[in-house]
Amino acid sequence: MAKIIDGKAVSARIKAEIRQEIEAEKLKVGLAVVIVGSDPASRVYVNNKKKDCEACGIISFEYALPGDTTNDELLELIGTLNEDPKINGILVQQPLPKQINVQSVNERISALKDVDAFRFENMGRIVDGNFNFLPCTPGGIMDLLHSENISVSGKECVVVGRSNIVGKPMAMLLLHENATVTICHSKTVDLAAICRRADVLIAAVGKKGIITADMIKPGAVVIDVGMNKNDEGKLCGDVDFAAVAEKSSYITPVPGGVGPMTRAILMKNTIKAYRLQKT
Ligand code: NDP
Repeated sequence: MAKIIDGKAVSARIKAEIRQEIEAEKLKVGLAVVIVGSDPASRVYVNNKKKDCEACGIISFEYALPGDTTNDELLELIGTLNEDPKINGILVQQPLPKQINVQSVNERISALKDVDAFRFENMGRIVDGNFNFLPCTPGGIMDLLHSENISVSGKECVVVGRSNIVGKPMAMLLLHENATVTICHSKTVDLAAICRRADVLIAAVGKKGIITADMIKPGAVVIDVGMNKNDEGKLCGDVDFAAVAEKSSYITPVPGGVGPMTRAILMKNTIKAYRLQKT
């Protein structure tokens, strides 16, 4: 039976450390959280991020814009936030309405305030290994592995999903720690056979139960990034948790695994942004 990696507990430790740092030095660190429109899931995420700010002693500034905000209006707000010395990090909650060009928004955020690391420049730094900001979800996953002293060096790691925010940067962080990495996606032939090779399997697809026990190498570490709804409308991951937990050595739950860690890394990046801006 697998040990459950408790993302809530690890993220609480990270937030407590940040709070200590902020209080010890009496820092005034500010995060701007921009939300456009009224998507209920986005509202929940933004509220959670604001709660995390409170827990860390980071001042959050919310900018809630109507759903029909134009691209130019959003870019203008970001320009103002870039210039505002109270704001150390800028986060624009995604998904954004159709009229917004997401790439133009990412590129408008000042490189030193890009706490999501979505700008091309910051993504390039992640590829290079010389980064200012960790990609939030992959960074959180590495912290979870470190919290259990799980080394990926020389191991076969399989990442299922190739998005710019999870799959690709995840593969880069694993590579920087000397893993042998395979990235799978919707066109992968025989996903199960590739997953069965994995010492560490990271599922970031967004399909409930796509990772089943027959796809797991006995003793593998299984990290579930997926956020889906089950038949009862409850949050669940990509992994068939009960059956996979029987076969693996470590597993992350959903909720309470990767999700809280993503937000903890956002907090880490915000204080890093503050430090970078002061040097
Ligand atoms: P995307 O939709 O951008 O990417 C999903 C990936 O899964 C794509 O690369 C896609 O392949 C691949 N895929 C789809 N179907 C299959 C399949 N049958 N077999 C193998 N691969 C497949 O999603 P994100 O990366 O943004 O997010 C993934 C999941 O993680 C979602 O559930 C999201 O909600 C969750 N998430 C959770 C976070 C957290 O903090 N816990 C943070 C961010 C995301 P292709 O490229 O070929 O289309």
